[in-house]
Amino acid sequence: MSRIPLIAGNWKMNKTVAEAEQFIQALLPKLYATDGADVALCVPYLDLEAMVDSTRGSRVEVYAQNMHEAPNGAYTGEISAAMLTEIDVHGAVLGHSERRQYFGETDKALALKVPAALDAGLKVILCVGETEEERENGETERRLRHQVQEGLEKLDTDRLGEVVIAYEPVWAIGTGLTATPEQAQDALSFVRALVADRSKEQAARTRILYGGSMNAENAAELLALPDCDGGLIGGASLDPAKFVPIVEAAV
Ligand code: PGA
Repeated sequence: MSRIPLIAGNWKMNKTVAEAEQFIQALLPKLYATDGADVALCVPYLDLEAMVDSTRGSRVEVYAQNMHEAPNGAYTGEISAAMLTEIDVHGAVLGHSERRQYFGETDKALALKVPAALDAGLKVILCVGETEEERENGETERRLRHQVQEGLEKLDTDRLGEVVIAYEPVWAIGTGLTATPEQAQDALSFVRALVADRSKEQAARTRILYGGSMNAENAAELLALPDCDGGLIGGASLDPAKFVPIVEAAV
């Protein structure tokens, strides 16, 4: 089954609206040779509206970097799915390791966020991945099993394939260390097998991305892995000259 590759940039807490505008004006003309790959940018909340307007009519989709699971209420500082869809945001990246590590994001909350986002019409990239300590202790599969099973627990089985899962080893994020192709393929295929435990058909549809120091030099090798359907790119997504070659490597 052929899955369209997705290259998603994750800007994290980078770029003011003015900087985001500059980026997008430089990016759009460079994407002409990349038909065949989906492109998304996960941007800070305050950049969302401007980015949605600037990318309208292009192939670039705009995602938030988090979302609260409740429709509204007393959750100071949070943003709901309806607030995102009202301004035509396409999706949300959920459960990034930095949200888990610094902001107490839990699998329990993610179990609610994933269906809430899909029900509102948002696309979802759910991030999973083991820490360095977990890998050294041989706990990578246990960690991935927990994150995938619990994060997707409340989602109807026939909707599993709508979720994009990003496998991001925490020790590879922002460190310049990349998983070897063997390590990446083992984890990516393990994640697919976890989805297949609930539905083989949905697992064949599910796009699974690799993330963690992916760049123009290593992208082609990682994207060629049988279970790699794209990438979630942090540092290298901040500069069109570094991001575009990764998109080109996916097509
Ligand atoms: P990186 O970040 O590409 O800078 O390692 C990836 C991510 O955090 O999604």
